[in-house]
Amino acid sequence: MKNAAPAIFALFGNPVSHSLSPLMHNAAFQKMGIDASYVPLLVENLRDALQGVRACNIRGISVTIPFKTAVIPYLDEIDASSQEIGAVNMISHDDTGRLKGYNTDWIGLVRGLEESFEIKKKTVAILGAGGTARAAVFGIRQRGGTPMIINRTPERGERLAQEFGVPFYPLAQVKGIKADCLINTTPVGMTPDKKNSPLPRESIGRFPWVMDCIYNPLKTQLLKDAEEAGCFVINGLRMFVHQGAEQIRIWTGKEPPVELMREVVLARLKEANGD
Ligand code: NAP
Repeated sequence: MKNAAPAIFALFGNPVSHSLSPLMHNAAFQKMGIDASYVPLLVENLRDALQGVRACNIRGISVTIPFKTAVIPYLDEIDASSQEIGAVNMISHDDTGRLKGYNTDWIGLVRGLEESFEIKKKTVAILGAGGTARAAVFGIRQRGGTPMIINRTPERGERLAQEFGVPFYPLAQVKGIKADCLINTTPVGMTPDKKNSPLPRESIGRFPWVMDCIYNPLKTQLLKDAEEAGCFVINGLRMFVHQGAEQIRIWTGKEPPVELMREVVLARLKEANGD
């Protein structure tokens, strides 16, 4: 009877109520015929929550804000890419009881970008210096591109740039920067902050391709401005879907229904925003 109950997977974050991961993962498990349930958990105490993972035999965890770095010391192991990025966005709980951390944000980002843009030998300006920016720098380099950092707070941007050995430019100097692609990893423009953009409109034309990691709304102010300036634009939806799909591959060893995952999230976003 040990395995009669459905396998439980969970999202750890604070807040979690807005997340579309439960919708996406549950749709995928159902389509794959896997008897599993994915639940959002509002975590108040991370250490206790991880003990709960072991105690309740939760098979896998997605990790979101604000725990992506804080969770690392509690894990038995993390993979090489999370080590270099310094952040984990998923955990697998294997049959021996070990908790192993991975980062699939970088994979989601490059796969989402690569669907329309070839990264190899291209310059990519990454706006922001937080966890997603770190995943972006790592991913762009993995795919043979040349990343550079642009950030509002120079000290933070410089620290990240030095750590990865890439150039840094303060946001205030963005008018002097050119690159093949710009990726926004700041939260500026995310619902409900829909009217704001992290870049002045007149600077966007310097970047023929513009990707926003934000997927709610699907078309941020940054992407609207970029389209008006004649740039090619990519929203954060494919990144979101690919980072989630990779989580399912690691947890189950099976191929997830990526297109279905995209469709359910897209439908929910359109319903919510009229995008
Ligand atoms: P984070 O660690 O808090 O970093 C945020 C960065 O944004 C910081 O460098 C910060 O600059 C900058 N920033 C914040 N407000 C700003 C403003 N008003 N003007 C200019 N810069 C500003 O955040 P994160 O975890 O990397 O997440 C960032 C975004 O990525 C979120 O919107 C998240 O939803 C999105 N994301 C999407 C996916 C996906 O699957 N599509 C996956 C992961 C994350 P300072 O250093 O100056 O403070």
